[in-house]
Amino acid sequence: MQSASPHRTVERLRPFASTIFAEMTELAVAHDAVNLGQGFPDSDGPAAMLEVARQAIADGLNQYPPGRGMPVLRRAIARDRLDRYGTSYDPDTEILVTVGATEAISAAVLGLVEPGDEVVLIEPYYDSYAAAIALAGAVRRTARLVPDGGGFTVDLDSVRNAITPRTRMLIVNSPHNPTGTVLGRANLEAIAEIACEHDILVVADEVYEHLTFDEREHVSLSTLPGMAERTVVISSAAKTFSVTGWKTGWACGPEQLIDGVRAAKQFMTFVAGGPFQPAVAYALEHEQPWVHTLRDTLQDKYVRLSKALDEAGFDVKRSEGSYFVCADITPLGETDALDFCRKLPARIGVAAVPVSVFTDHPENWNSLVRFTFCKNEETISAGIERLHRL
Ligand code: PMP
Ligand code: GLN
Repeated sequence: MQSASPHRTVERLRPFASTIFAEMTELAVAHDAVNLGQGFPDSDGPAAMLEVARQAIADGLNQYPPGRGMPVLRRAIARDRLDRYGTSYDPDTEILVTVGATEAISAAVLGLVEPGDEVVLIEPYYDSYAAAIALAGAVRRTARLVPDGGGFTVDLDSVRNAITPRTRMLIVNSPHNPTGTVLGRANLEAIAEIACEHDILVVADEVYEHLTFDEREHVSLSTLPGMAERTVVISSAAKTFSVTGWKTGWACGPEQLIDGVRAAKQFMTFVAGGPFQPAVAYALEHEQPWVHTLRDTLQDKYVRLSKALDEAGFDVKRSEGSYFVCADITPLGETDALDFCRKLPARIGVAAVPVSVFTDHPENWNSLVRFTFCKNEETISAGIERLHRL
């Protein structure tokens, strides 16, 4: 038999053959390292929610749910958006349950952007955005975050400069992966104005919407003037309820946009996993206090991990939310974060992720490493102890 050609993967997906999370998690396992690379919690979500999922299986909710998602979950999502943001979505036409936020993002790009149209990302950007754009045969352009008093903020001019007559969509993520930046109201208003002025669709990736520190407000782009009609808001149970393996997410937006997302979603997965949906609906309605505790616990871990990184010699950046904190390796005499992260598991038994892989201009981001603090007490303590070996 002939050996397979190394280039069977279609050209537009070749740059996406493997993800950084898979590579660093593999290295973590190989070296028995503490995995502060891939952002997944290692403790469970609320017990009552888990029980609802078990019960759903026992009750026989094991066949295809409706394509848009189970009504009980769509109604819970609608209530949640109304209670927390004052935005009203019709659960029958304006909410779609997806296989995680990842599918919602890909389906939004596939269903709303023509091949050759441009999509603007703000770098560093979550890796799946670029892959979704490639899947759609669209063209990626980038704006950027810039340093801002120990943290980061959006360079609004770079957003304006990235827009051309071909721009169809802008993807904005706040709270932000990988930097932990939470965009403030003024910046979001400026972004909204740009989107309205150029009549651009917006995908607002809000998967960390509950996880902001120091009572910082999470402003949903969808709530700003002119934005409801052009924004697809995406969130997920993964981060809010510590169930990244459930792959239960959602997209909310006006009917004509959700129709596009649904057209694509139908032929990727048809529907999202059945028994998880009543469980997530239950959690949206009953587990807000659990989420607040999660947020406070994460903030405490962020503070402790930052201190350890600082003591180990990193220049630690400010995180305002999410699962992540970034740290600069320059004071350690290092210059290449990718190389640094590839060696770190063997060197001190800790895995992390280089920020450069989330950008189109790695030369500007070569000294930054992302660490996650969404791990249980034992993992965080072990990570902190090992960082002192540096
Ligand atoms: N967007 C961002 C910014 C993320 O960090 C993640 C997951 N870490 C996702 C989307 C994907 O979410 P899900 O697991 O629900 O597909
Ligand atoms: N979103 C998680 C992170 O940023 C991991 C997701 C993944 O493994 N694709 O670490």
